[in-house]
Amino acid sequence: MSRGLIIVDVQHDFCEGGSLPVTGGIAVAEGVSAYTVAHAQEYATIVATADWHVDPGEHWATDGEPDFVTSWPVHCEVGTEGADFRPELAAALEHVQAVFRKGEHEAAYSGFEGSTEVHGRRLGLADWLRERGITTVDVCGIATDHCVRATALDARREGLETHVLLDLCAGVAPRTTEAALREMRDAGVVVAHDTPAGGPAHP
Ligand SMILES: [Zn+2]
Repeated sequence: MSRGLIIVDVQHDFCEGGSLPVTGGIAVAEGVSAYTVAHAQEYATIVATADWHVDPGEHWATDGEPDFVTSWPVHCEVGTEGADFRPELAAALEHVQAVFRKGEHEAAYSGFEGSTEVHGRRLGLADWLRERGITTVDVCGIATDHCVRATALDARREGLETHVLLDLCAGVAPRTTEAALREMRDAGVVVAHDTPAGGPAHP
């Protein structure tokens, strides 16, 4: 069994002080860094995803009020600080082998919609994992009820054993987070409490 770690969207705009802040986002950045440093040897690959918008159309509520379901305040605009990773993620980023950016011209919640450039070619996350023989992924980051959810569900669709490290995630709202956890569990995702200081990482 070969394991990968996927760190989802730990960017300024999704943390306290950003344009679409998720409570606990900075704590997630710190926790993910500590976890990654402590557990890097357990992973065959460690990657990050980033929401990466140029003009994502109606995903940004530029003409009215966002509904926080399909339309959102302007966030993660390429070239702005909001799109950068949080500085607290720096220690984790030293172990990150590739960043999969998504959503340049449309909404994109799942990291599997993203791509990275390898030797001049675009490579999607599923291909990246397949090329490395990854069979199991751990998913953490922001937000539990949106991009973590979509990434974990896609990982299952790709046939991967999928764990969500819940203590290294933050959700937008309790109701949608609960619904997302149910949906993920129903899809066969293992939702695990796991912290850097926690017990056995993987039963
Ligand atoms: Zn977005």
